[in-house]
Amino acid sequence: MKPAPFEYCRAGSTAQAATLLRAGDLLAKVCGGSQSLAPMLNLRLVQVDRLVDVSGIESLRGFALTDHALRIGAAVTHARIEDGELPDVTRGLLPHVAAGIAYRAVRNRGTLGGSLAHADPAADWVSTMCLLGATMLLAGPEGERRVAVGDFLQGPFTTALRDDELLVAVEVPRLSAAARWSYRKVCRKPGEFAEAIAAVWVDPGQGIARAVMGSLDGVPQLADGEDTLAALKTAPGRARWLDDAGIEDAYEREMHAEMLRRALQDVNDVSAA
Ligand SMILES: Cc1cc2nc3c(=O)[nH]c(=O)nc-3n(C[C@H](O)[C@H](O)[C@H](O)COP(=O)(O)OP(=O)(O)OC[C@H]3O[C@@H](n4cnc5c(N)ncnc54)[C@H](O)[C@@H]3O)c2cc1C
Repeated sequence: MKPAPFEYCRAGSTAQAATLLRAGDLLAKVCGGSQSLAPMLNLRLVQVDRLVDVSGIESLRGFALTDHALRIGAAVTHARIEDGELPDVTRGLLPHVAAGIAYRAVRNRGTLGGSLAHADPAADWVSTMCLLGATMLLAGPEGERRVAVGDFLQGPFTTALRDDELLVAVEVPRLSAAARWSYRKVCRKPGEFAEAIAAVWVDPGQGIARAVMGSLDGVPQLADGEDTLAALKTAPGRARWLDDAGIEDAYEREMHAEMLRRALQDVNDVSAA
C-alpha cells in the first residue's frame, strides 16, 4: 500500500523545523529515520499533510560531554551509538543496547529521538533511558524545556511532546568506574521487538540500585533502592512485582521473571569476581 500524498520538507535547522511545524490547518509531523513512521504512513494508520524531516539538522546529529552527563542529539542513529562514535559514559551500556535493536539496516536510519518520541513500550531506548533516569530536552515556540524521562513517557505511544515541539537531545548521566549494569531481553527472533526486557544498574558508592522491567502494556516499571533489589533476587519478590505491574498471563510472567533473575544474577556475578 502507498501512503496518502503529503508534502515532504527537509529542515536545515530547529528554527526552520519549528516554522514548518506551525502549519496552520495542515497536519504536520516530524520524522527522524522514518523506520516507525513510514510503515504507519504506508498502512495509512497515520496520514499527514506535511512531513518535516529533522534527520539532517546538524545540531541534532551531534553530542556534547558535560561533567556529569552526555548530551546526545535526537537525530543520532542507533548505528552510530553501536559503532562507539560517542564517548562511552555508560561503561558500554549504550553500544550494547544499540547493537541489539532490530538489524543493521534499521539501525543505520533509526534515531534515538525518534525511538523515544514514538514511545513504543517494547523499544529498547525507552527501558534504557528509564533505567538511567535520563533527561529529555524539548524545544518549542516558548523555548527549550527539560523533562525527566519518567514525566516524558506518559503511556504507550504517548509522550509529553506537544504538537509544535521537537525532541532535540537526551541527557544521559555518566556512570562511575565502579558502576555495574545488565540488560537482558527475550525476542522470538533476532531483530524483532522484545517480549520482555529487564535492566539493572548498581553503583554502591553512589547509592544507586535500580531495576527496570520493560516491554509491558504501559511504560516501564522502575524498582529503586538496595532493599527493593534485594527483594527482587527472590522468586516471591519478583512475583510481587509482577502482581503490582498487573501482569497476569503465565507465559508473560515467566519471561519477565526470568529476564529479571538473569539481569540481577549478571550484576551479582561481576561483583563477586
Ligand atoms: C523491522 C523493525 C524492527 C525494529 N526492531 C526494534 C527493536 O528491536 N527495538 C527497538 O527499540 N526498536 C525497533 N524498531 C524501531 C526502530 O528503532 C525505529 O528506528 C524507532 O522506533 C523510530 O526511530 P526513527 O528515527 O525511525 O523515528 P521515525 O519513524 O521517523 O518517527 C517515529 C515517531 O517519532 C516522532 N519523531 C521522530 N523524531 C522526532 C524528534 N526529534 N522530535 C519529536 N518527534 C520525533 C515522529 O513524528 C513519529 O511520531 C524496529 C523497526 C523496524 C522497522
